[in-house]
Amino acid sequence: MNNTNSKNIKSLGNWMHNLMLELYPICRSLAGPGNRESLFIIKKHIPIDILEVPSLKKVFDWTVPKEWSPKEAWIVDPNGKKRAVFSNNNLNLVSHSVPKNEEMDLSELLPHLYSLPAQPNVIPYVTSYYKEDWGFCMSEAEKKSLPKGKYQVFIDSKLEIGSMSLGEFLLPGESKKEILISTYICHPSMANDNLSGVVVAIGLYRLISQLKYRKYSYRFLFIPETIGSIAWLFHQDEHEIKERVIAGLVLSCIGNEGLFNWKKTRHGNSLIDRVVQLILKSSGVCMDFSPETGSDERQFCSPGFDMKIGLLSRSYPGTFSSYHTSADTPDKTPPNALEGSVDCLFNICMGMEVENIKYQRINPYGEPMLSKRGLYNNISIKKEEGIINSSDIRAHLMWVLNFSDGDHTLLDIAEKSGLDLNLLYKAAESATEANVLKKLLVSDID
Ligand code: ZN
Repeated sequence: MNNTNSKNIKSLGNWMHNLMLELYPICRSLAGPGNRESLFIIKKHIPIDILEVPSLKKVFDWTVPKEWSPKEAWIVDPNGKKRAVFSNNNLNLVSHSVPKNEEMDLSELLPHLYSLPAQPNVIPYVTSYYKEDWGFCMSEAEKKSLPKGKYQVFIDSKLEIGSMSLGEFLLPGESKKEILISTYICHPSMANDNLSGVVVAIGLYRLISQLKYRKYSYRFLFIPETIGSIAWLFHQDEHEIKERVIAGLVLSCIGNEGLFNWKKTRHGNSLIDRVVQLILKSSGVCMDFSPETGSDERQFCSPGFDMKIGLLSRSYPGTFSSYHTSADTPDKTPPNALEGSVDCLFNICMGMEVENIKYQRINPYGEPMLSKRGLYNNISIKKEEGIINSSDIRAHLMWVLNFSDGDHTLLDIAEKSGLDLNLLYKAAESATEANVLKKLLVSDID
């Protein structure tokens, strides 16, 4: 198995950030041309199929919304000054606003204006997906400065029957069992929430597609939040999907420099929960599953599906000050943070690839003499990458050599030792090359 190195990740960080800058200006929503344009850009970098689900189709308890096509929108104040101009900032117009061309008093307009008194200089992100309505968003400072009098309200948009676009790609591995990587594409002009999820998923694809060997298949989803995952699940066979998808991660708000945050699956102690907890040991926190907030893990973990899918973020959605505002800009998601997120996600996937491998000592009596087999030298390559020092090598080796009794998986050994799962794998592989261990065949992945 190839591993990544810090140099590749570094250039990947800049590449992801540039892709984010390309996607940032596009006005996305639940369904419409902005989503399609975004998926066409994504398709240049990961060969997704774009699936279209017809407007008004019933999917479980929900209805697929109409397509929204905004062209231009503004308010003209009594002095003739244009305000809340949509083409200046997508967030100025409430998402899914119906067309409007009407003169009205400030008092009639005010109920349709949204601002954030606690953050007076930012434009909030407001949607009206499931109720036909209209509105504008502006800073609290601007709202307070509006003069009394007659306003012209102009919204050139269409809400019409069409379809909702979903992006999906399956990267095959040796097994048909899948790890699902799901992220959402419905937010306009916000970086951390959630272009970070989009570019990090593509970054992961770039690394994982280069592996010479993959045990698992990886399915990537780029879908509108909530209705997209519900529509996707609607088209799956409930029993088959639970068998096929052994684990998954929803990516949300994963582009800033905060600590990683794993919201566990509904099971709480499934393989992916155990692997993520090990990988995040010093770089993040884990929280129990909760359906109150979050993202599409709430659909994947609804009781009918109950899949082993959690949410990986760096600042949990809703907990950072720029959340759902015009202040969520790409400069808050620098290349090094995006690099760190892909690195973490890649390590989680590699951990899943190796967690259930078992080894057995060829001669289990006493400790093998390491120096005469050159075992230290085999692993010291990693020293050049700055990943591991010699005492770490010894620790990882000693643990796999003792617990490779045919019963303990690498995940068991990592949990017992508190050591790095992926380095335990490397230590065990080196010991296998040196004929000290043999790898046992794993039959539990089809
Ligand atoms: Zn959001």
